[in-house]
Amino acid sequence: MRKLLPTKHLLLVAAVSTAILVGLIVLPEEKKQQTFISLDATLDIVEPSTLTVTDLQLPHNRSYENNIVTQTKQSEDSNLAIEGATFAKTTLPPSFLETSVKIKSGDSLSRILSKAGISAQDIYKVSLADKEQGSLLRIRPGQTLNFTVNNTSGELTQLTYIKNRISSVVFERDTNSFNRTNVEKEPNIVQTYKEADINSSLFIDGLKSGISQALLIELANIFGWDIDFALDIRKGDSLSVLYEEKYLEGEKIGNGNILAAQFINNGRTFQAIRFDTKKGANYYTPDGLAMRKAFIRTPVDFTRISSKFNPNRLHPIFKTSRPHRGVDYAAASGTPVKAAGDGKITFAGKQNGYGNVVIIDHGKGYETLYAHLRGFARGTKRGARIQQGETVAYVGQTGWATGPHLHYEFRVNGVHKNPVTVKLPNDDPMPKKDLENYLPYARQITATLSNSHSPDFAQKLALLKK
Ligand SMILES: [Zn+2]
Repeated sequence: MRKLLPTKHLLLVAAVSTAILVGLIVLPEEKKQQTFISLDATLDIVEPSTLTVTDLQLPHNRSYENNIVTQTKQSEDSNLAIEGATFAKTTLPPSFLETSVKIKSGDSLSRILSKAGISAQDIYKVSLADKEQGSLLRIRPGQTLNFTVNNTSGELTQLTYIKNRISSVVFERDTNSFNRTNVEKEPNIVQTYKEADINSSLFIDGLKSGISQALLIELANIFGWDIDFALDIRKGDSLSVLYEEKYLEGEKIGNGNILAAQFINNGRTFQAIRFDTKKGANYYTPDGLAMRKAFIRTPVDFTRISSKFNPNRLHPIFKTSRPHRGVDYAAASGTPVKAAGDGKITFAGKQNGYGNVVIIDHGKGYETLYAHLRGFARGTKRGARIQQGETVAYVGQTGWATGPHLHYEFRVNGVHKNPVTVKLPNDDPMPKKDLENYLPYARQITATLSNSHSPDFAQKLALLKK
């Protein structure tokens, strides 16, 4: 089967044919009989414009475990007897030897290529072309090297380093050096819709509905400012998500971004839309308010519930009706406790029933308190400025505590609020200029999301709006 070669190769064909002719004249000893060949051999001149370039890519998709398998590709012409008369008229194509090697541990470029009989000079020339980027110095087991050798001259003509399914680096010979090109395949992006009903947990039910764990973590981060995933997830909550899936050659290779998502939680509904501004990509409400808030909803990684916010519950130690003015997050002793927002530490020390306690003043009347701590983080002392998410202390059971947990209070102008549900102030609003672009887009993507809702989901939403 004849494979049409690109222009560069055809020109090479002509050049190599000449080389063969010359080669025959100075034939080595074993072919004693002298053949006279006219050097005026008429080579076919091919107009580059008449060439059909059908397949620029050589078949590189075979993978070979641990050994080098080679394949010789020859045009039918090369099987012709090399005899003077015929020879002079035929444009004799060279044969190319293609090799594909799967890189294994301990391999290096020079080791692989020299094993395949490629000259040290050619190996040097390739590394010279890669000198600035150094890609070939970072080859890893499991990746693939494809290379093509001109059988006649023994020269390396092409080397492809396949980093992964998307990225490759191609080195193509240009007489005495190599040209280096990065080749990136563009995956197809497909918008995908999924929804899940929560019966036991976000992760269990999400996975059951075919939403990947990575996507669920992202969703928890997007809605984590509004929903306390440790304490506030209810049976009957629902979520819907519109996201990108990436396909390469018909096969799914991963997920892209979450474009929009909706969460029905405990009778409330939240919607988030991804949007790019100069500050980067972020999630916003349909009105253009940042999902990100001045306060983290849950100051520890959500684990299990020990007790809910209930101002009238019985205290576990005193069995009296002492109001419980915060929430308890049961977590292993030593679990980091994060500052819910930017602020200044106004107290770090012991206080009776609270044990070790940290109080942070966030300004504008907002204050948070963290109690029963095992110990404080370095730098946690009165007067210290602290940033949202910074570790201030560690979970313990100092003071009046029956087990290791974080007792967390949220006060607004001195009044205790339920940290799980308190309405948190939004971060900086979107600049007006961005908002002008955002609002029409938000309407469009919201419509796409709504049109994808199952009848059940749509009905839940309709009931909430009443
Ligand atoms: Zn408590």
